[in-house]
Amino acid sequence: MELWFTEKHTPNVNFSIKVDRQLYCSKSEFQRIDIFESKEFGRFLTLDGYMMLTEKDEFIYHEMITHVPMCVNPDAKRVLVIGGGDGGTVRELLRYTTIESVDLVEIDALVVEACREYLPQTAGCLGDPRIHIYYEDGLKFIRHCENEYDLIIVDSTDPFGPGEGLFTREFYGNCYKALKETGIMVNQHESPFYQEDAYAMQRAHKRIVESFPISRVYQAHIPTYPSGHWLFGFASKKHHPVRGVDWARWNSLGLKTRYYNTQLHAGSFALPNYVEEMMRDVE
Ligand code: SAM
Repeated sequence: MELWFTEKHTPNVNFSIKVDRQLYCSKSEFQRIDIFESKEFGRFLTLDGYMMLTEKDEFIYHEMITHVPMCVNPDAKRVLVIGGGDGGTVRELLRYTTIESVDLVEIDALVVEACREYLPQTAGCLGDPRIHIYYEDGLKFIRHCENEYDLIIVDSTDPFGPGEGLFTREFYGNCYKALKETGIMVNQHESPFYQEDAYAMQRAHKRIVESFPISRVYQAHIPTYPSGHWLFGFASKKHHPVRGVDWARWNSLGLKTRYYNTQLHAGSFALPNYVEEMMRDVE
């Protein structure tokens, strides 16, 4: 008998991975949490049946959501991560010795617990003393922050269920307020390819454009996300994501990365025409 994990990317498209065994299954107050083991992608985490990360391709997502803003502003010292309970984003941030503290606001303690037990590749660094974990709703947490952070990374689930509030105008406006005067916010921005995802992406983009003076979108290829074509949002008070960036400074840090490099960083902001058009439609 064969066991397969299947996620519906649209009502007419399925994405399946053959599963060797299920390592973990539970239902928290917020969502169903599963961790599987597979030959092709190693271990993988799903929430309510949606793919969050696999051991094989998580480096692409976590490097792109972290090193792009850190290259633009390597002086970032105080960082807020919203979501991201698997620890992958935090792992990449901790590689910068100049970062003084990372506040991780994850709504679901059970995600952190499960990842610590079964996904050490991402969660292994969650005990670092520079990290402060808050088990709270990011939407509520951010309401009380002002002029505190150099960088906010929104490493959330999709815009439904517990993650819904993290795609609202209120949330982005409060992120703006929570950032210092040279602050940057980066968020996972959904995919432009399938229609439902594209609508969500446009909605988020419109709201971010209304909240920040600089707002651009960049892309990466993530094989296990719908269509494989994934976007990130870069919103900022002062820094442009490409113009004026000191590439040599980031390269001098000597960080070894598997996906990110400074040429790819610059190129990732060059979007296909149909995506540019979708952005323009809501700007
Ligand atoms: N890389 C992933 C992706 O794009 O599919 C995101 C992974 S990470 C596991 C997302 C995390 O956001 C989940 O652990 C979820 O519990 C958390 N989350 C969802 N809504 C949240 C909220 N309102 N506040 C804080 N964390 C939230």
